[in-house]
Formats: sequence, C-alpha cells, structure tokens
Amino acid sequence: MKEMIQQLRERQDADDESLKQLLVTSDWDRMLFREADLVRRKIYGDDVYVRGLIEFTNYCRNDCYYCGIRRSNHHVKRYRLTKEEILACCREGYLLGFRTFVLQGGEDSYYKDDLICQMVSSIRKEFPDCIVTLSIGERSRESYQAFYDAGARRYLLRHETADDAYYQKLHPAGMLLENRKRCLFDLKEIGFQVGAGFMVGPPFQTVEHLLTDLRFLQKLQPDMIGIGPFLTQKDTPFSGFTNGSLSLTLRLIALLRLMFPYALIPATTALGTIHPQGREMGLKAGANVVMPNLSPVGVRNLYALYDNKICTGEEAAQCRDCLERRVSAAGYHIVTDVGNVKRK
Ligand code: SAH
Repeated sequence: MKEMIQQLRERQDADDESLKQLLVTSDWDRMLFREADLVRRKIYGDDVYVRGLIEFTNYCRNDCYYCGIRRSNHHVKRYRLTKEEILACCREGYLLGFRTFVLQGGEDSYYKDDLICQMVSSIRKEFPDCIVTLSIGERSRESYQAFYDAGARRYLLRHETADDAYYQKLHPAGMLLENRKRCLFDLKEIGFQVGAGFMVGPPFQTVEHLLTDLRFLQKLQPDMIGIGPFLTQKDTPFSGFTNGSLSLTLRLIALLRLMFPYALIPATTALGTIHPQGREMGLKAGANVVMPNLSPVGVRNLYALYDNKICTGEEAAQCRDCLERRVSAAGYHIVTDVGNVKRK
C-alpha cells in the first residue's frame, strides 16, 4: 500500500484495483493525507483561496432527489436577489478581501441570459480586479458563450456522478447525465475555468461509482473539483437515508490531490456541517479553497440544500473572521487573491 500511494503521487494515476483498495480502508489515511499535503504545499504553499458565495435564488425547475430546494419541496420559502442586492454583497465582500464572487442558484428561468449577463458585467465593471464565477446549472452552449462574453470566467457544475444508471437513481426522468457532460465540455471549450464534482455517500453509491467519477475527472481535467458528504434534508425523497461519511470524503480529497496535483479543491460547507472541524480536516487532507457565504443574512437559511447547514446566522464579516482563525489554526493562511489554478 505504501508503494501504491507513492506511485500514485509520482504518476498521478493507479489501476482500478489499487484505487478501490485505497477507497475502502482508512488504514492508510495518515500516510495518504501527509502525501497529499506535501503535494499541495509544493504547488500552493500554505495559501488558501477564498470565494465569496452569493446564493442568489432558491427557485429551481429541477427535482433532484437529494436536494432541499428541489421543485417539489413546497416547504421552502422561495427568494430571488436583485442585481442591486447582489452588488451590495460584492461591495461588502470586496472590503473583506474577496476577489472572486460566485453566483450560485437553483435553475431559475426568471434569470434569463440577458439578466445574468447584466449581473456579470455590472460586477465586472465595479470590481475589475475580481473574477465572477457562475453556478447556475445546465444551459445551452449559446448561453454559456454569452455569459463568457459578458465577463464570467469560471463555472461550477458538479457532474454529480459519471455513471449513467446511477445518475438516474439520483434524478427524475428527463434529467440526463449526457447533457450535464455536454455542458461541462462546452464550458471548457468556450474558455471557462471549470469546476466539476460529486457528493460522497448519497443513497446507493458504490466504490465502483466513485472510481467512475475519478476516471471521468481524468478525462475532463477540470480546474476545480468540489466534493462534500451527502447530507439529508428532511423534505426530500432521500430524507430517510444516512449522511455520507466524513472519513471517506477526506480520503477522496487526498486521492484527488494526488491525482490532480494542481486542482483547486474546496473544503466545502457540507464538510463543515458534518463535523465542526470538517473544513480544517479537509484542508489538512489536501484542500486549498474555502467558499464562505456572502448572501444577505435574511435569506441564508432559505438556501437549505440539506439540514443543519452551518454559518446561516452570521454576517459576512463574522464568517470571514471565523474562517481566518480556523484556517490559521489548521496551519494555512487565507490570501487576498483571485486564486487562479496554477499549471505545470
Ligand atoms: N443548481 C446549481 C447549483 C447546485 S447546488 C447546479 O445545478 O449546479 C450545489 C451542489 O450542492 C450540487 O451540485 C450538489 O452536489 C450539492 N448538494 C445538493 N444537495 C445536497 C445534499 N443534500 N447534501 C450535500 N450536497 C448537496
């Protein structure tokens, strides 16, 4: 196993059997995390990049079985932020040192391409030294091109799973993995820095599925890879299942760091929700990005993809301070930087 891990670091690859063996046991975690941290420090030092996350709408036309803001969840109080409200979040964020703003939301057709483009170009105009990231789901290639032309430079779209049959178990009929993959490759071709990823431990997920995800990521070569544990939400069809595993998530972060040394890997909010020190553990296992919430406090608890989400009561400044302390306690430090991916 020791040699296998060293080989993985040197070749950034391993055969299916070795990867599966590494995934199913925690016996080698200490070594795995140490190697991942070495790789991370060699490329990114102890820098941690921050992204200011603005969850600007919780309306969604999709009905993903795992997600709390799915269309069929009638317990959700829906909200939309205006362009001005979004700009106000950016202003606050800029003063706190954020140089990337991530506009994330459900798939909300209220925000037509034109409106998204206006939002993007207004942010770009007021904050020319900042990067705008979009995370608004599946759209046409033409829409993506328009967003790029308006000045957006990054796009986050988790593939969720790269296995066709399993994708169908997580999503209702009509949602197709093929289209999600098409989106990711379109985004890349247009010139976006792209983030993909998946949840760890949703119902029915197997080690085979995870292996398929790793192989898909090798094909896509995204700039960012976001993973976090699946967490139940009480009003979804998956409410009766169990949460994903902290330890498997950390192990996957370490594996991802070894297989994709240059990738931007966030220590996600879901990781911080499943364990009070989850994000710190994620950083120590190879993650190098944190994405604190910049949404107005009044709507924070309404973007409830899962139960018990952390940081829903704090002001942006409090979040930023708290994170600063957590990151330094873990042995890293937050930098004021757009935080682009480094390349070989
Ligand atoms: N609508 C956008 C943004 C989705 S929310 C899109 O389609 O890309 C961002 C991510 O949260 C999702 O991609 C999913 O992987 C994750 N997520 C959703 N529900 C979750 C849950 N119950 N537990 C953990 N993560 C969840």
